[in-house]
Amino acid sequence: MSFPYEAPVSQSLFDRASAVTPGGVNSPVRAFRAVGGTPRFMVSGTGPYLTDADGREYVDLVCSWGPMILGHAHPEVIAAVQEAVARGTSFGTPGAGEVELAEEIVARIEPVEQVRLVSSGTEATMSAIRLARGFTGRPKVIKFAGCYHGHVDALLAAAGSGVATLGLPDTPGVTGAQAGDTIVLPYNDIEAVRAAFAAHPGEIACVITEAAPGNMGVVPPLPGFNQGLKDLCAADGALYISDEVMTGFRVSKAGWYGIDGVRPDLMTFGKVMGGGFPAAAFGGRADVMAHLAPAGPVYQAGTLSGNPIATAAGVAQLRLLDDAAYEKVDAVSAEVRGLVTAALAKEGVAHRVQAAGNMFTVFFTDAEVTDYEAAKAQESFRFTAFFHSMLEQGVYLPPSAFESWFVSTAHDTAAVERIAAALPAAARAAAGATA
Ligand code: PLP
Repeated sequence: MSFPYEAPVSQSLFDRASAVTPGGVNSPVRAFRAVGGTPRFMVSGTGPYLTDADGREYVDLVCSWGPMILGHAHPEVIAAVQEAVARGTSFGTPGAGEVELAEEIVARIEPVEQVRLVSSGTEATMSAIRLARGFTGRPKVIKFAGCYHGHVDALLAAAGSGVATLGLPDTPGVTGAQAGDTIVLPYNDIEAVRAAFAAHPGEIACVITEAAPGNMGVVPPLPGFNQGLKDLCAADGALYISDEVMTGFRVSKAGWYGIDGVRPDLMTFGKVMGGGFPAAAFGGRADVMAHLAPAGPVYQAGTLSGNPIATAAGVAQLRLLDDAAYEKVDAVSAEVRGLVTAALAKEGVAHRVQAAGNMFTVFFTDAEVTDYEAAKAQESFRFTAFFHSMLEQGVYLPPSAFESWFVSTAHDTAAVERIAAALPAAARAAAGATA
């Protein structure tokens, strides 16, 4: 397809970036590979809006892939950051901010008795897997096709997010040894999990799953699936790891756990808990966490773990996320979902809006999407046309049909009206798209 509207400053930044950075981006999901065109280079964000280097404003439905649940540049988060930064940026010693952030997490999420702070979701899942293996003395890990847990070697097999967007089967650079103990199963298929436990008795250290997947698009667990995972793990002596990097502190005060109540042995967090800074965590049962260095033998460390700026931003953001904030985000999400569905239905476009709490994806298919194969079967060429029409009209969607859309407490009536105004033309573009 052609891209009639221009973004000359973004284009020139992208040309410079491409000369010094592979693909011109520092995380593949930011590229426009799946949809074509030039990625927009953003220079500022306020509330629900982003402004690009060409001075064009967009309603942001990506929210930094989840973290910006209060919108951009929330005054109280910015004030906390400014106050922290004036006191110094990193000490390499324990600090009060780390204690406060850990206490916030433990207070909100009942299964988390102890927590360790890290800097990215990838580190959190990597460390949780190592801990599960160290605790159980077992090698194997079960993961699900289409779930993304960061770019951990052992977890990149059949991964979602950018791996799905770029259609990569697997990743060169991950050796057979690194992935050899990973068992990849279809999502939402509890019988496949039962069969894997039967085939490998006493060998499986853990099952890791996205609490409610958002990285193959939003594909919520079928009723009973997470509980089934938990029960199979408990029966075999394996650990149930719920990856809440995306859902944690976003879909409720206690994340997806606050919605389905299935108690994991370990959990991983990131995104929202850092308030837009690099902060992530893993935590859970105290007896398992006691195996972590320096309390126990499983090593894990980080120069910038619990960084004072990141913890200040995270604490400020979490303290602002009360019940009213989640009600607001849920309501905006429901409103936008309704508008999208109405616009697409009016144009007769086959689609399905799937939600997990306030996270949602528009799949261009009639069929319910319960696993990665079904997600891949959608007519993603329609998304490409839809995406570019929305972008041209000032609405920034994830540049992939396999990602969640995110809203914030800052998405007010004016922002929603802009989305509503853009949808009819985007729906027409989707209707008229050809493969
Ligand atoms: N786990 C899930 C569920 C995620 O969505 C992500 C990132 O999107 C990660 C882990 C990895 O987090 P990070 O990008 O901070 O390494």
